Amino acid sequence: MTDIETVDIAVIGAGLGGAAAAALLRNAGFSVHSFEQADEFQRVGAGIHIGPNVMKIFRSLGLEDRLAEIGSHPSHWFSRDGRSGEYLSRIELGDFAVKEYGAPYITIHRGDMHVTQLSVLPPETLHFGYRLTDLEERDDDVLLSFANGRQVSAKLVVGADGIGSVIREKLLGPERPRFSGWVGHRALVDMDKLRATGLEYERCVKWWWEHSRHIMAYATKNDGSEYYYVTGVPVDGWNHESSYVDSSREEMEAIFGDNAHPMVKGLIDATTEVTKWPFWNRDPMPLWSRGRLVMLGDACHPMRPHMAQGAGMAIEDATILTRALSLTGEADYKTAFGIYERTRRERATKVQTISNANTWLKEPEDPAWVYAYDPIHAELVG
Ligand code: FAD
Repeated sequence: MTDIETVDIAVIGAGLGGAAAAALLRNAGFSVHSFEQADEFQRVGAGIHIGPNVMKIFRSLGLEDRLAEIGSHPSHWFSRDGRSGEYLSRIELGDFAVKEYGAPYITIHRGDMHVTQLSVLPPETLHFGYRLTDLEERDDDVLLSFANGRQVSAKLVVGADGIGSVIREKLLGPERPRFSGWVGHRALVDMDKLRATGLEYERCVKWWWEHSRHIMAYATKNDGSEYYYVTGVPVDGWNHESSYVDSSREEMEAIFGDNAHPMVKGLIDATTEVTKWPFWNRDPMPLWSRGRLVMLGDACHPMRPHMAQGAGMAIEDATILTRALSLTGEADYKTAFGIYERTRRERATKVQTISNANTWLKEPEDPAWVYAYDPIHAELVG
């Protein structure tokens, strides 16, 4: 950054929620700078779902067509028994989602989604290598201190810094996130081995076992050339310092291999590299903002990923926050933050609760309350 010391709105974190907030606020006419701890963009993770509720937001940013071109368009979200293959539910997506929910449902590589989001941010407003270490709330601004020695004064600060949020810690005190008792194995599978099975792999299918153990498997590219899975497995504890550890095909076999359906066996056989991630959690927060500080996404309401809506909620948050600030003007940020929290809290908490319970779409149910929601036009709660 070239000697910028004062900014209007500072967004801390340029992950999926922060990148959306910066783009939406900028589109609405605000002056925004993003500060991200990573030194550069990293293509981390693998697959992610983007529901129609979120695609409507990407439409408003001019990104819908690009994402729809890259991502896979599943006809359904299937739930199936991991041994017998019996269909437990068939939730219609595809053209039905466009017609009923107002936008496509896609699954995509997380890196492809993230880089597309970042592409609309002017490079001079996106500051990598800025890890927030401290902040001071003053009468007229917030003084932000970064690990690289720089200090920036901001009128408003949006904490989009994820589950270990420094902003959250400032508002509510230090508290480590709680291990949820669940881990997820994540793998991009070997397509040649998958094809060699001769089986027709569905574009979006969740395989279920007892105690809600599962494998969520889906394509991440429009042409079906990449296939990904993420598991959910209860475990006794997590004793590693690192954010993930290596797993193996043997471990997958031990957890899911017993009498597995041939398609599950095929998935396990096509596993070459697989990693194991802990799922962290927090209880719903008592407050989402204070003074000139406001939070969104995982900083505010982290959840286990079983509804595939964590990023969706972060991006919806960003939309409602932007609309509230547009309504009140930046100077009346207190009113805006109140509108934002009142509009978001109930929905985000409901999604957090159901996601943690891991019941979503296991049996036939109507997902319209999630997918048909339109954050661009939804009523703001004043
Ligand atoms: P993050 O995306 O975590 O971004 C936080 C950013 O802040 C990061 O870039 C980080 O480097 C930066 N940061 C952190 N601390 C600092 C600091 N001190 N200073 C500066 N920068 C900082 N969601 C979906 O919607 N659909 C899915 O299909 C889905 N699948 C998932 C699968 C798995 C296995 C997991 C674990 C999650 C999944 N999620 C999914 C959830 C989703 O990934 C998160 O909810 C989402 O990333 C939250 O966005 P965020 O911007 O709040 O946080």
